[in-house]
Amino acid sequence: MTDQNRPDSPLGGLKINLGTATETPLGGLSIGTADPAATSPLAGSPVTEATDGAPTETKVLIIGSGPAGLTAAIYAARANLEPVVIAGSAPGGQLMLTSEIENYPGFPEGIEGQDLMNRFREQAERFGTRFFDLDVDRVDLSGRPFHVWAQDTEFAGQSVILATGASALWLNIESEQRLRGRGVSACATCDGFFFRDREIAVVGGGDSAMEEANYLTRFASKVHLLHRREGFRASKIMIDRAYGNPKIEVHTNTEVAEVLGDDKVEGLRLRDARTGEERSIPMEGLFIAIGHRPNTEVFRDWLPTDEKGYLVPHHHTASRIHGVFIAGDVADHRYRQAVTAAGDGARAAIDAERWLEAEGIAEHATQTAW
Ligand SMILES: Cc1cc2nc3c(=O)[nH]c(=O)nc-3n(C[C@H](O)[C@H](O)[C@H](O)COP(=O)(O)OP(=O)(O)OC[C@H]3O[C@@H](n4cnc5c(N)ncnc54)[C@H](O)[C@@H]3O)c2cc1C
Repeated sequence: MTDQNRPDSPLGGLKINLGTATETPLGGLSIGTADPAATSPLAGSPVTEATDGAPTETKVLIIGSGPAGLTAAIYAARANLEPVVIAGSAPGGQLMLTSEIENYPGFPEGIEGQDLMNRFREQAERFGTRFFDLDVDRVDLSGRPFHVWAQDTEFAGQSVILATGASALWLNIESEQRLRGRGVSACATCDGFFFRDREIAVVGGGDSAMEEANYLTRFASKVHLLHRREGFRASKIMIDRAYGNPKIEVHTNTEVAEVLGDDKVEGLRLRDARTGEERSIPMEGLFIAIGHRPNTEVFRDWLPTDEKGYLVPHHHTASRIHGVFIAGDVADHRYRQAVTAAGDGARAAIDAERWLEAEGIAEHATQTAW
């Protein structure tokens, strides 16, 4: 559906400078002037902007366009709630950073991360979702409608779904970034299966690194656990388990100086953190397990977070603020999977719909059998 033939919203309708709509590689409408500084390198699409100064208003405002946000959009759009998605400057979310996904149901041959997210977005658009590839930098959740600002564009929502996910932390060396999805990963659950009978390394010193190293021994012939310090942050039981696993070799005081290989990981250049001495070893995979950063900065003045900075849902997907819902990795550091995030998105959209109905804003709730 285009802006020209969209019926007016009962809430006053979208006020967008139409300009020339073009298809983005993710299937989204692009409206207004491109801002190269904010354009996503992944989507390669112009930023969408509302330019007449009036807030873009909707019944369901969704922040984030990973599996959680886009699934919420599909459900909300099919419930005639005319959702608006503020997709962020990294539209598609974390799966855009990886190559093949083999554990998302419905794709027995596997599917590329970007293809999967393209499909999610196309499906959300098919039912009338509007996209703005902008980062939210400020929110006001003090009352309805809730207000959200993204690069000076104001949005208003009768309900809001927060689905901003979490960002895996990386070493941030050039070779690591270049070989992401080609032997470098940040998700053992997702990618361990690809390393059957291979020699691989895990970087990190916390419980997640220990857990991932242990998990990866199910597949790999050998796992090198690399930690740049002498002591580990991980709990004693996890450290003992790693040292006790015959397939794990622990290297303390060891940093990754470079990931070797042109098209795929072929080795690592390691540096002794005390002496600076370097050595290269052959390796076929590298898992970075140094943590995640939940994308919750803009919400922290309004909603409680746990000790790691993740949002804390209050009841199912509802937050402590009526009308504000939470979905996906922004709150979940236990499962961190596309399918669980998508499930959360569906739950949040249904919860939002029922809440809007209870408030007299939406007419018919999705028929569910509970
Ligand atoms: C390397 C890697 C490989 C993976 N492989 C798999 C796999 O094979 N199978 C699997 O099931 N899972 C995999 N995962 C995990 C999976 O990607 C996540 O669990 C899932 O993407 C979480 O979805 P989400 O929608 O909650 O958040 P995300 O995917 O993190 O999406 C968050 C969205 O919010 C947006 N955003 C953030 N801040 C703002 C803001 N201020 N304003 C507006 N938007 C914002 C971002 O741009 C993004 O669009 C992998 C993860 C990584 C890192």
